[in-house]
Amino acid sequence: MAYKTVNPYNNELVKSYPDATSEEIEDALSTGQALYKKWRDEPVADRGIILHTIADLLRENEDELAKIATIDMGKLLSESKGEVELCAIIADYYADNGADLLKPTPISSRNTGDAEILHQATGILMMVEPWNFPYYQIMRVFAPNFMVGNPMILKHASNTPGSAAAFESIIEQAGAPAGSLTNLFASYDQVSDIIGDPRVQGVALTGSKRGGQSVAETAAKNLKKNSMELGGSDAFVVLSDADVDKAVDLAWRVRIYNAGQVCTSDKRFIVADNLYDEFLKKLKANFESLVPGDPMDPKTTLAPMNSERAKNKLQGQIDKAVANGAKIYYGDQPIDLPGQFIQPTILTDVAKDNPEFYDEFFGPVAQVFKVSSDQEAIDLANDSELGLGGIVVSADPQHGKAVAEKIETGMVFVNSFLVSLPELPFGGVKGSGYGREMSSLGLTAFTNEKLVVTAQEPDWNNPAGGLAVFKK
Ligand code: NAP
Repeated sequence: MAYKTVNPYNNELVKSYPDATSEEIEDALSTGQALYKKWRDEPVADRGIILHTIADLLRENEDELAKIATIDMGKLLSESKGEVELCAIIADYYADNGADLLKPTPISSRNTGDAEILHQATGILMMVEPWNFPYYQIMRVFAPNFMVGNPMILKHASNTPGSAAAFESIIEQAGAPAGSLTNLFASYDQVSDIIGDPRVQGVALTGSKRGGQSVAETAAKNLKKNSMELGGSDAFVVLSDADVDKAVDLAWRVRIYNAGQVCTSDKRFIVADNLYDEFLKKLKANFESLVPGDPMDPKTTLAPMNSERAKNKLQGQIDKAVANGAKIYYGDQPIDLPGQFIQPTILTDVAKDNPEFYDEFFGPVAQVFKVSSDQEAIDLANDSELGLGGIVVSADPQHGKAVAEKIETGMVFVNSFLVSLPELPFGGVKGSGYGREMSSLGLTAFTNEKLVVTAQEPDWNNPAGGLAVFKK
């Protein structure tokens, strides 16, 4: 049984889950296909009513859902509660706006007739999701595609099966028809088989480069449209005119939230030389004041990482960076608790030839760099194989915006946290993947953008169709 919950705070095996069977997979595919056909004849707005009920149930069950997520992957209980609320916000947004956003788009064309683009469902979508936001990652794909009418099959991370089952149960309780979202505890091979099935029309993955490459390859082989939301090594740029206290106040939070395991949490802090020393000192003071402990306890401010494997991987990266010349400004000491804790760590002097320079540190590790101009900050921010998000801090928002416009990522926020909201597109460029989730872009990521032209009669004089030559 590959799917199991091991509480990362105390390493207890909480529950194992049986692997998906071939019968369950066939059932998910045939139920999903039948639902796709049924939904094609039903008004989009009807699904909005169910999506509102899903939002209501998420809020009613927030405490229980939050506990499940925290036990699955270790984040602070308050963070889990915030995640459940965000899921409800996303569901409400698509329930309220989905039908309008999916109305046909008219095109002004020559004398051909009335041209419009219909945004129609395409069929079953396979979604592969990670453990770091075990509900929100599902909801980002679920809410828009539920409105579109694409039934979904979910393969969640093997360490968050409790959250996957709880999410599926909320959808069932809300009265969504069977097949709307079927969670399967599927192996990689079974995921490949599902992607290859002719009833499946799309694949959405959020995860690592390794997982993304493998799933995208299978999708490409089977000519299935896919979107890839992969890693990030976002830059947090502190410009020379910034208020250093305000910058640090943002910096420690974005690095520690979710124990640093966020694709868009800034991992590289690029600081103007006049502020560098003060920034380091104040970042360290904030890291020092964090309290590791039980993520269920409201006094805890530093959560464990999600698994032993993740902790070992991050520790290995710190060791390798240091072995190749990086310096520990703060941290890298063991924490005397049985769970998967890493002390927040600040690395400096990570040179370009350090093998860790281009790696994503997926945990509470901040790399801090000193630069002497805006251009140097921009060049360093862009010297990355990844391009997901980023933050720029400046006393002058227009100055910050001018720098933000030059950063090669999918999202940049000036003087603010990078927030994820349903009306804002989420996604990256370069090694961070392709496609966008949420917003109107995410809503139409897996639609058939179908052209329909309706004329009273053929326009034989129209040269564009080439038929004028046959005119009687
Ligand atoms: P991962 O190993 O790629 O796992 C993500 C999901 O993909 C899991 O469900 C995993 O299943 C599955 N998977 C991996 N390889 C697969 C394969 N060959 N076939 C089928 N399924 C496969 O990612 P992770 O390391 O746990 O997650 C962290 C990464 O995700 C980081 O790089 C982070 O930046 C990125 N991330 C990106 C975003 C974004 O929106 N751009 C958001 C969050 C996280 P198993 O659990 O069974 O291995």
